[in-house]
Amino acid sequence: MKKISILGSTGSIGRQALDVIDKLDDISVAAISTNTNISLLEMQIRKYKPQIAAVADEASAAKLKIAVADTSAKVVSGVRGICEAATAEGANAVLTSIVGIAGLIPTLCAIKSKKDILLANKETLVAAGDIIINAAKDNNVNIIPVDSEHSAIFQCLQCGANAEKIILTASGGAFYGKKREELKNVTAAQALSHPNWVMGNKITIDSATLMNKGLEVIEAHFLFGVPYENIEVVVHRQSIIHSMVEFSDNSILAQMGMPDMRLPIQYAITFPKRTKQIAQKLNLADLCLSFSPPDTDSFRLLPLAVEAGKKGGTAPAALNAANEAAVGLFLKGSINFLDIENIVESYLNKHYFIKNPSLRDIINTDRQIKNEIRLSKKKA
Ligand code: MN
Repeated sequence: MKKISILGSTGSIGRQALDVIDKLDDISVAAISTNTNISLLEMQIRKYKPQIAAVADEASAAKLKIAVADTSAKVVSGVRGICEAATAEGANAVLTSIVGIAGLIPTLCAIKSKKDILLANKETLVAAGDIIINAAKDNNVNIIPVDSEHSAIFQCLQCGANAEKIILTASGGAFYGKKREELKNVTAAQALSHPNWVMGNKITIDSATLMNKGLEVIEAHFLFGVPYENIEVVVHRQSIIHSMVEFSDNSILAQMGMPDMRLPIQYAITFPKRTKQIAQKLNLADLCLSFSPPDTDSFRLLPLAVEAGKKGGTAPAALNAANEAAVGLFLKGSINFLDIENIVESYLNKHYFIKNPSLRDIINTDRQIKNEIRLSKKKA
């Protein structure tokens, strides 16, 4: 029996993970967590009977405590509570499906208590890649990617050879084919209608700006130890090939499947085994696969992210912080689409850069930038 904890169990990845667990025979749930969605968390507590249920928001936690007083779940709150969920006794692995830098401290807690990480929280690895990878090494913990592209690469690498080059596929997002001029007045509602994948709001906006692919280049660099020069992004509109690895003999392996997040989630949970199918079969005769280079003139967040990755230090944390804050403002309708990239670019250039940041430096960089963006928006 494998026992897993799910951080962010009420979000898109968390809910799909529970759907996968429903269909597997021998997986139980040790702990779950939410930011504020306590009505769904209560249903999950009653169905999956976790030992621990954590709520980031204190007031919501107090309400949940009363609502589930008749169950055996221990309700905990705040960052400390999420860390208690991340370190729940008896769990072998922790699925980190919290959105954004909020996943950083809980992920480190899980690593220190020797839980394998099923990584769905790319922002944590982007902002603090060296710290996370070194902590995983020190504690002899596996990091198994859940992000579909990285799961594809991880699967291709099971052949045992070293990757010479990584080829990340990108759907192109909601605004594929649009030029800069046409991007000025696009709305959040338009950005939220992704052609292939059903995902949470933040990642769908990141997908529309191509920032998601930029974050994934940095994620791939840290997960697989491949230099930035050897990571290529190619637009593949059908999202059937989830990514590829090129080897020293120029042979390329690709992993294919329906664009269904339950597939990489299932693989991460059952790894190294494969179990019965959840995702639909591919019908190859119906498919026509195409590839093209990304339009980095219209979508500048992709090259900006790669630049931040190459610079290292606090640059990726600054990039991520400015992006999280800017996407929040765009979703509220406070700024327009191209402002996201203007804000990110300005903080990448002007933030107080530290070459070898500590965990504290990374958290401070994140907070400072988000505060400044919030304040400047209040004044405006
Ligand atoms: Mn992805």
